[in-house]
Amino acid sequence: MTGPMHTKPTDTMEAALASLRLHGTPFIDGVRTSSQEGATFADHSPIDGRLLLKVSACDAADVDLAVRAARRAFDDGRWRDQPPAARKRVLLAWADLLEAHAEELALTESLDVGKPITDARTIDVPAAVRTVRWYAEAIDKVYGETAPTGSDVLATVTREPIGVVGCVTPWNFPLYMACLKLAPALAAGCSVVLKPAEQSPLTALRAAELAVEAGLPAGVLNVVPGFGETAGQALGRHPDVDALAFTGSTEVGKLFLRYSGESNMKRVGLECGGKTPHIVMADAQDLQAVARAVTWGIFLNAGQVCNAGSRLLVDRRVKHELLEHITAQAGAIRLGDPLDPATELGAVIDHDSRDRILARVHEAQNAGGRLLLGGAAARVETGGAYVEPTIVDQVGNDTRLAQEEVFGPVLAVIDFDGPEQAIELANASAYGLAAAVWTQDIDVALNAARRLRGGTVWINNFDDSDITTPWGGFQQSGIGRDKSLHALDKYTELKTTWISIRGL
Ligand code: NAD
Repeated sequence: MTGPMHTKPTDTMEAALASLRLHGTPFIDGVRTSSQEGATFADHSPIDGRLLLKVSACDAADVDLAVRAARRAFDDGRWRDQPPAARKRVLLAWADLLEAHAEELALTESLDVGKPITDARTIDVPAAVRTVRWYAEAIDKVYGETAPTGSDVLATVTREPIGVVGCVTPWNFPLYMACLKLAPALAAGCSVVLKPAEQSPLTALRAAELAVEAGLPAGVLNVVPGFGETAGQALGRHPDVDALAFTGSTEVGKLFLRYSGESNMKRVGLECGGKTPHIVMADAQDLQAVARAVTWGIFLNAGQVCNAGSRLLVDRRVKHELLEHITAQAGAIRLGDPLDPATELGAVIDHDSRDRILARVHEAQNAGGRLLLGGAAARVETGGAYVEPTIVDQVGNDTRLAQEEVFGPVLAVIDFDGPEQAIELANASAYGLAAAVWTQDIDVALNAARRLRGGTVWINNFDDSDITTPWGGFQQSGIGRDKSLHALDKYTELKTTWISIRGL
């Protein structure tokens, strides 16, 4: 690929596809190649179900080639031995190239995931660019330590890149989730093999080409598209991968722990699922504003967000009023063609997912849940996979709708009497990614912040987030943290060096 591709904003599938040159082959050792067996899988757009392109289905042999390339690149020091300031220059150039290709990447993301083009333009691509820039800027400001030893020795503690990192990412924010792994790993000096999700592999492949165009040496970043059970598992079990950074479901996250234990005990970092409780106390101020946060918190990206506020826990005393606001706001969400800039709610990832989401809603209704809004497929005539914004009231906290990820635009409403019960219900979950609390009482807020089990707690806001703050889960929401300098823990080893000092 030479030079930036200037894509015009497009509003039909035909125009969008004509403006893009999509590629679905592995990127290994700095070049686009093909899988050894030549197997492919079909990448469909959930916008209208059409085939976007055939993508290489890499297997263990392809993963091995990519790991070998990454190992060579790591061992000969072509990247890790560059001074941090030099790595920073390359990564900043990469961020600039991603930004220069923002429209191309946003359009590709919208086609591949079915997300609203406006979200892809304003959330996904800017977040990816900012992530790469932030780690580029950070890496020449990370210092080592000198230990408080006796005067006859010097003990230094330094960070070294861990080596070859395998990254396995989900389909919901493909480019951004990839950059959350790639940026700190590359900044630290590691070499990487990335396996993007099979549902949406396209932007990661393109981003890797842009990284090489920006000056990243060949072999430092390799991308192998393919299925989880084949390519993902091969990466997880590869004996020459030093660390595995995963974002995806808790179920698959647990497999990576097993792969590691059964192979070379590679370090495993896991960003997994959640069932974020959105707690509204009786004294919450401005229920209109709370309703806006709840609505955004569950319907953004059609609810396909790890920290989607999928459990609304609301005090009985304000429930009626709050639900009136939420149903009015949710009912006004513009569900439509993801390529229309006015669309707020796009497709879900595929038809299987749509059918699973709706089945979960019907199951909740059969268990006594009361449907307040939605509950049906939408835009069926397009051939795409869409679900109406859905709200189910009177959900039991022990039912599947309240305990398991739905990963769709479905809000489960559970009521409570007072803060104590709210916190109990919120914590009655296997997950612990995040929680939000709305209250005017400082004691209630601070008690909740202390007692809620979650890597992030929001008080009187929802989804505030920044690359400067760590992100990750308690319990079965994960192990380790993305974002902030804490992410470097996944990609570096600490080394202590003892140096004797002789008397003069
Ligand atoms: P998933 O677990 O099905 O897949 C994630 C990745 O794992 C994909 O690349 C997939 O191909 C691979 N995979 C699947 N089966 C595998 C196997 N047997 N062995 C090895 N690899 C395998 O998740 P998904 O459906 O792509 O994404 C949605 C999930 O991701 C949700 O659970 C969501 O909460 C989670 N997520 C978490 C965060 C976070 O920061 N905590 C962020 C985004 C998404």
